[in-house]
Amino acid sequence: MASSDANALFAALIVAAGKGERAGQAMPKQFAPHRGKPLLRHSVEAMASAGADPIVLVIPEGADDLARDAIGPLPARLVTGRATRQGSVLAGLEALSSPAQPFVLVHDAARPDLPPEVIGRLLAALSDHDGAVPVLPLVDSIALAEGAVMASRVDRDRLRRVQTPQAFRYAQILAAYRAWQGELNASDDAQVALAARLTVALVKGDERLAKLTYPSDFTGTTAPAVRIGQGFDVHRLVPGAELWLGGVLVPHDYGLSGHSDADVLLHAITDAVLGALGEGDIGTHFPPSDPRWKGARSSLFVEHAARLAQDAGYEISNLDTTLICEAPRIGPHRERMQKSVAALLATQPSRVSIKATTTERLGFTGRGEGIAASAIVTLALRS
Ligand code: MG
Repeated sequence: MASSDANALFAALIVAAGKGERAGQAMPKQFAPHRGKPLLRHSVEAMASAGADPIVLVIPEGADDLARDAIGPLPARLVTGRATRQGSVLAGLEALSSPAQPFVLVHDAARPDLPPEVIGRLLAALSDHDGAVPVLPLVDSIALAEGAVMASRVDRDRLRRVQTPQAFRYAQILAAYRAWQGELNASDDAQVALAARLTVALVKGDERLAKLTYPSDFTGTTAPAVRIGQGFDVHRLVPGAELWLGGVLVPHDYGLSGHSDADVLLHAITDAVLGALGEGDIGTHFPPSDPRWKGARSSLFVEHAARLAQDAGYEISNLDTTLICEAPRIGPHRERMQKSVAALLATQPSRVSIKATTTERLGFTGRGEGIAASAIVTLALRS
């Protein structure tokens, strides 16, 4: 098969039949809100926009109304699941019965972030293999347990974490499931395929495919549509140091002193974003006692906070800041700062405001002993 077939259409089977009790939600976790919509809807949308047709959803018995509410107008066939995962997958495969597409992707609804690149890699691998699964290396070292005692070490380099979706030729995986004896529980489809002597390619997975399992994994249960955070910071001016403001090097006889590059504006912005998320402050995430952050670029801190916002389902609605100092003059550098901050927050410069004021020569800023910065940010839940 030519590799251009990687763009071929495929059927999708999304398994959402579990009880999901560990997730501690008021309803089965696949229907619980996450980032502003039911968990299940994320995978159905991702599959639909990647071109999956048809899409079959395997759901718990009696959950048809919940499932319809969850997916809204998106097209999907509902199939009632069975007591075991492999029973549910088989029911879903049978319901697909001779789809027009030769390929099927089997996916767990508990993995809401499904990057389209992963689907591309899986379909491409089906040119040369019966099946394909996304995998990632392990970072922790691995021990084989005998009760509560370590029996032996395990060679981590040969081990992989296996994710979903898992891609197969439809007729082959259906036959494999029908032949599966089931005395052992298969925790995924690749194990069933392997038992039927199908070849399963390992393609690069993605951390974004992480499985939501515990209550803390869910962000949507009480996520407000808008969150506001404010930050304030001060650093001392000293002769001979570099002056970084908003990620921009500003020529001046004095610079700010601190553990990192002391970019007072970026620190206030970081605290504003962390504050909006209820995620503590800059010191929680980057303790000054940690030598890793000595001389660190403060852009790292802002990017980290922006990533947390992104992961929680929020985008920057707007940011407003004030620098408080007698000198240097901020005006000539304002536009560069605005662009720099916008880039760090992965937003448009039009959403970032940089202002400056003096304190009429009063107080520590007025005497030129330090620079203060304040920031207010508004985050909006992505639709
Ligand atoms: Mg600071």
